[in-house]
Amino acid sequence: MICSKEDPNLTEKVTQRLQGQKGRMTGQRRLILETLESLPGHPTAEDIFLRVREVAPHLNLSTVYRMLRWLQKEGLITVRVFSENERQDRFDPNLTTEHFHFVCQRCKQIIEFDEPSPASAIIADFEKNNSARVENVGLVLHGLCRDCLSQE
Ligand SMILES: [Zn+2]
Ligand SMILES: [Zn+2]
Repeated sequence: MICSKEDPNLTEKVTQRLQGQKGRMTGQRRLILETLESLPGHPTAEDIFLRVREVAPHLNLSTVYRMLRWLQKEGLITVRVFSENERQDRFDPNLTTEHFHFVCQRCKQIIEFDEPSPASAIIADFEKNNSARVENVGLVLHGLCRDCLSQE
């Protein structure tokens, strides 16, 4: 995954947020966060669970879900749905910019890219014409990545 804008301080932000709510950063929570940030392709809860369990065998899937839902509720991560036939949510730790995704249909690689200005214009137009406020923009391009194309 090409992702240059990942927020380097997610763990720190979460620690502060937890303290404010009289919670604390446990080893498991830290592992879940680090795994969320390091796994490519905006992992599902199960992806994170399987990876963290390699080093923390007592981890429960429900702990991962609770943590991810809490992060989502706190606005620290975003949930992405990349295709309608995919049942599981994917969790995106990149909140620093609004960005879009390309999903390779063959290897499932996800490439992030910044908001292209024509999209900004469309959104601004829509808001103006409809007196609405757009809060979440989902633009997903589907296709074949460079690696997969070179194997054709
Ligand atoms: Zn992303
Ligand atoms: Zn590919």
